[in-house]
Amino acid sequence: VAKREGGNRVRLFQQEMGEQALARQRDKTDLRTAIETGQLVVHYQPIVDLATGAVTSAEALVRWQRPGTGLLGPDAFIGLAEETGLIVPLGEKVLESACDQAVRWHAEGRSLGVTVNVSTRELSNSGFLPRLERVLATTGLQPGRLTIEVTESVWADEPAMRSLVAVRDAGIRVALDDFGTGYSSLSYLQRYPFDIVKVDSSFTRALGNNGRTEGVIRCIIALADVLGAKTVAEGIETPQQADWLRAAGCSYAQGYLFGKPTEAASWDTRTSVAFPSS
Ligand code: C2E
Ligand code: MG
Ligand code: MG
Ligand code: MG
Repeated sequence: VAKREGGNRVRLFQQEMGEQALARQRDKTDLRTAIETGQLVVHYQPIVDLATGAVTSAEALVRWQRPGTGLLGPDAFIGLAEETGLIVPLGEKVLESACDQAVRWHAEGRSLGVTVNVSTRELSNSGFLPRLERVLATTGLQPGRLTIEVTESVWADEPAMRSLVAVRDAGIRVALDDFGTGYSSLSYLQRYPFDIVKVDSSFTRALGNNGRTEGVIRCIIALADVLGAKTVAEGIETPQQADWLRAAGCSYAQGYLFGKPTEAASWDTRTSVAFPSS
């Protein structure tokens, strides 16, 4: 009996594996269709200069308007896109939308930079630079208005690092996203210059209730300063966090306090925000 039950369990296991593989295959097909038929939507979140309150740029954050499901956040499909290579056409769509949007804003008299998340897998693809140059040429965006956000995983990938150096040589800014949450290497950090270091929300969330984290944030700001980079604090939700960061010398901030990611059509037209001081 035990033997037969074991066999059943194996069959059940195989069946579940088969179903998972099928679901994955379906998701992959759907995601490819989504990219080709315009189901991807790009939302924009304001980035604010902490010294002046000026809205200086917008981060492009992709969503998937999936039929029958609703609006999906990137955490639901970026992983699959990276594993399947669909991140390459997906990233190209986001880059096109974001550059196009920045040009539109500029034409409307709003001087905003745009910042786009790029996976290491995308950067290491040999077609990345030519695609980037084509998008800049077709949209007419000045390279200096574009920032590419990468994570620390880029350091483990030689071709991606080479792309990154070329990106910077082309006059595009490079930001290190989620700094301190991956494999930070001070040696890489000083060898490859970054323009911007983004302080991850896991640090800023602890502001006001963890003195140790406050010390760590001060060190990140000082380190960025030594390397000639600006800092952007992520996930700012309260005036107290903004005040603390401004006093600590952080250059920029983004978070729900200043604005949630929204479609370009409902973008807040204010060019600066007032800081409610705590
Ligand atoms: P990220 O680049 O670190 O983006 C910041 C995330 O924090 C965004 O989540 C944003 O909506 C959220 N956020 C911003 N302010 C606040 C706040 O005050 N409180 C809280 N609780 N959250 C806040 P989102 O849009 O879900 O994106 C998640 C991640 O997906 C991004 O993290 C980025 O790594 C990735 N991603 C987004 N768009 C793209 C894309 O086009 N390509 C690639 N490769 N990755 C993308
Ligand atoms: Mg980002
Ligand atoms: Mg981040
Ligand atoms: Mg993140």
